[in-house]
Amino acid sequence: MSNYYRALNEDFGNNTESGKTMKKDKQFCCDECGGDHIEWQVWADEYDVVSDGDGTRDVWCDDCEEHHKSVLKDDYKKKTDTEPTHAEIMQYIENNPVGPGGYTNSGTPTDETYEDAIRELQTNKGE
Ligand SMILES: [Zn+2]
Repeated sequence: MSNYYRALNEDFGNNTESGKTMKKDKQFCCDECGGDHIEWQVWADEYDVVSDGDGTRDVWCDDCEEHHKSVLKDDYKKKTDTEPTHAEIMQYIENNPVGPGGYTNSGTPTDETYEDAIRELQTNKGE
């Protein structure tokens, strides 16, 4: 038995009686929703040995039910920490009104106004 499997057995040893295996904390999550119900598509040979393949980060996310990229949970957290919320963006636009061209006919900010506000907010947060 390899050291790897021995380590696994020791880790899961306490739970084998109930027939359940304890799952370790997952490190990766979906870069779209942050959920960790993700599965990698891999290449394996006839002995189930997974090959390194092309190092793709593409995963199937069970939460989004779509293909997305995997990111480390820490990185996802950093990303969402610096990404302003919709409310913050609207507040920023309200506090920093743009010219008439920055709004649609119905009075909502255009995509460009919205994107500009996100950039400004991210710059401010980074300082
Ligand atoms: Zn997802």
